Amino acid sequence: MPEMSTQEACKRDSKYLTHGWGNIPINVVKGLGSKFWDCDGKEYIDMLSQTAGVVGIGHCHPKVVAAVKDQADRSFHILTSFVNDVRVVFAEKLAAVAPGKMKNNCKMYISSGGSEANEVALKMAMLSTGKNEVISTYFSYHGGTLAELSLLGQSYSRVGPWPRFPGFHQIPNAYCYRCYFGQPGPDKCNLECAEALRYAIKYGSAGNVAAFLQEPVPGNGGHMVPPKRYFKRIREICDEFGVLYILDEVQTGVGRSGKWWASEYFDVEPDIFTTSKAIGGGMPIAATVIREGLLPEKIIDDQWHIFTFGGSPISCAAGAATIDVINEEKLPEKAARQGERLSKRLNEMMPKYKSIGDVRSMGLFIGVEIVKDKATKEPWYAGAGNIFGLALGKGALFGTNGARGNGNIIKLKPPLVLTDEEADKALDILEESIAENEKSL
Ligand code: PMP
Repeated sequence: MPEMSTQEACKRDSKYLTHGWGNIPINVVKGLGSKFWDCDGKEYIDMLSQTAGVVGIGHCHPKVVAAVKDQADRSFHILTSFVNDVRVVFAEKLAAVAPGKMKNNCKMYISSGGSEANEVALKMAMLSTGKNEVISTYFSYHGGTLAELSLLGQSYSRVGPWPRFPGFHQIPNAYCYRCYFGQPGPDKCNLECAEALRYAIKYGSAGNVAAFLQEPVPGNGGHMVPPKRYFKRIREICDEFGVLYILDEVQTGVGRSGKWWASEYFDVEPDIFTTSKAIGGGMPIAATVIREGLLPEKIIDDQWHIFTFGGSPISCAAGAATIDVINEEKLPEKAARQGERLSKRLNEMMPKYKSIGDVRSMGLFIGVEIVKDKATKEPWYAGAGNIFGLALGKGALFGTNGARGNGNIIKLKPPLVLTDEEADKALDILEESIAENEKSL
């Protein structure tokens, strides 16, 4: 194992590595449960599960460590065309926890990350419908490929001279705190944001819409939690026009909402869903799951798609162990309980602090919107960036929804195994950081 001081690691890092999404000069070397450590032994509470929920069952869960070690003795890589028993077991376990009608009644393609899973979802939808237009929402993130960047609105995630993919359209999000349609609140509107989908299909497309794709709650987009009735209307509109409904559960899934899937939290059934991040317990794996019967039989084993590392046996072993851990340790229930505790305290903090404009939560998926002024709701991007830095210095990692100082949402997505003591300490740090940051108002 290399041992380097932070200074040396940063110097050598900058010679060859590009980070792409911010660069935090801390040499992180170890993680366990809800904590991680840098090379100097400084301890951090991981309120982000590293990358937006990846270590959802905690860093280095012993059952996943054992599964990975065991599989490393059997094989590292098997050609995707072969049958492989570990892949079969992972697929069976994932099918068994799939939501609604998809439970034990689906087909899936296993890949290595969320971008891959969503590309496959788009291909599956296009193959299933024979159409090639797609609708998504402005505030979203579905991956870093050129096609996927065209699913986003113009945002920090899109910085660059990338082309715009033809036939990919966006509609406004259900962002009740800043309703695009000027409506007063989630229960007092006519769901204009959902109706925007009907308009986009009827008048904004070329009549060739294969799918509507969204995250149940946008992770990088800002943690806006729509009301349940929004999803009911979206489902109705998709059905009315024969448009497939794809839910990107890369961040929201795997127990974080308090249910296995956010679709269950909102009582809606997608036709296709994607999962990655937490499903591997920290190992790279993803899956695109489609309702049985939607993928034309003749193409299922045809040469329609390959990713070389899709279904890596080591990742599948980690994924299968992760699913067991989540079920055995009842982690969705734990997420619901801890999410309520955190959300209660944040809601109590809101009236005390001038810069907390809104608190939005779904289980352990929580967003705190930082504003300069509660009346005007002016986003305070630098303030959120400052809070992030202050909290990190005090030993807690939170997220913000934008690198380069242009996100104003502080995001909490800790491991589902977070203890009460860790949660309380992390919120003490957050509160101190918010108070300190407000001194500059
Ligand atoms: N979908 C969502 C909702 C995501 O948050 C991300 C990554 N942040 C992706 C897809 C892409 O996943 P990956 O970076 O693993 O390709």
